[in-house]
Amino acid sequence: MEKNYDVVVIGAGAVGSSVAYYASRDGLSVALLDENAISSGASAHATGFLSNTYDYDPGNNINDLLFESSKLFDQDVPRINELSGIDCLSVVKPGLRLALTESEIETLKERANFTSVRQRYPFYFMSGEETRKLDNRLSHNILAAGYIPLETQIDSYKFTLALAVSAEKQGTDIYQRKAVGLIKNNDRVIGVTCQSGKIYGDNIVVCSGIGSNPLLQELGLGININPLKGQSIRMSYSGEPLGFHFGGVESWHLIHRGDDLISAGSTSEFNNYDEPPNHKATETILNWVMSVMPCLEDARIVETMYGFRPMSPDNLPIVGALPTLKGIYLAIGHGHKGIHLSLVTGEIIKSLLTKGYADYNIGFMNPGRFINS
Ligand SMILES: Cc1cc2nc3c(=O)[nH]c(=O)nc-3n(C[C@H](O)[C@H](O)[C@H](O)COP(=O)(O)OP(=O)(O)OC[C@H]3O[C@@H](n4cnc5c(N)ncnc54)[C@H](O)[C@@H]3O)c2cc1C
Repeated sequence: MEKNYDVVVIGAGAVGSSVAYYASRDGLSVALLDENAISSGASAHATGFLSNTYDYDPGNNINDLLFESSKLFDQDVPRINELSGIDCLSVVKPGLRLALTESEIETLKERANFTSVRQRYPFYFMSGEETRKLDNRLSHNILAAGYIPLETQIDSYKFTLALAVSAEKQGTDIYQRKAVGLIKNNDRVIGVTCQSGKIYGDNIVVCSGIGSNPLLQELGLGININPLKGQSIRMSYSGEPLGFHFGGVESWHLIHRGDDLISAGSTSEFNNYDEPPNHKATETILNWVMSVMPCLEDARIVETMYGFRPMSPDNLPIVGALPTLKGIYLAIGHGHKGIHLSLVTGEIIKSLLTKGYADYNIGFMNPGRFINS
């Protein structure tokens, strides 16, 4: 007789692997499928920045979840490293968000004010002069900065692999299969049709990133998860290591990774999909790097990365049960923040599966908002 799992997870990126990790940790039987290798989608190409202050959201929703997910990283990554035998290369350093224009200064001031009101995650405004005292290699183009006492960057590829391997050690079965359809029985989804064979489960969780669209159509949701291309570069640098996680105000990062390479980027492109990494994007990244830290002209580019962020129609994640059909959950559309939000998403889906509710505010991510759209 065919095995029937408690949960079948479609997609072994950071989000699906996290769902498999938390569900199997709680004793559920789990099948984790991916049409390619584990961590071969967006999660392989991310910066892995866990930056709580990136999204300025006066509604608090996403910021609160980022904060909660950071707590899970602190709490659970040591166990995930140990169980999987894979070091996720977490690097914890102070962060600096560098303003190069007057409008960016205003944004930094608003963020400092916002975080001081919420008193959860410190973010201090500093002048350009104060900023250069922290690292005299920073250029005079920097007019001000936001200082964050501690923040984390992680190797997103290794992290995703470590989650999947930990899930496997907890009993998850991993299959290299492409899901091509859902098996239904009356008002319930009871399994997944793959290109080769069928896998049955009481609950199915769609975590297939930009590959989710055919399944969303089948579920009657008139929406697409759109790819937003991002390119970054990795550089080897023999000078003094960077003591901060540097970033721009709305985008850009400059981070010394745990593998000793410096990562810089990332672009946001809704085109050039078929093009491999391109020189124009690399040039744009280097222009920003030179404008904040000119000494890095001595660094050597050793790798150019690109991937596709899974963007939902309203740029918010889609996480939760689909109200129109039993046994089906979505965890997709995490956009710029899928590595950071992966752990809290896995914990949320696990709670929905085991208790029927989650201990977080998840209403704003409800898949039901797209029904009839
Ligand atoms: C350049 C860049 C920088 C980024 N930086 C950051 C950052 O600093 N911090 C952050 O939090 N996020 C960052 N992100 C965003 C982050 O990478 C994504 O939000 C996250 O990886 C999404 O994870 P996922 O598991 O939803 O999707 P994916 O990692 O894409 O995983 C989906 C998986 O589903 C599989 N799949 C698809 N269709 C099927 C199917 N039919 N059957 C079976 N399997 C299927 C795919 O093969 C894939 O492995 C960045 C992204 C990019 C591109």
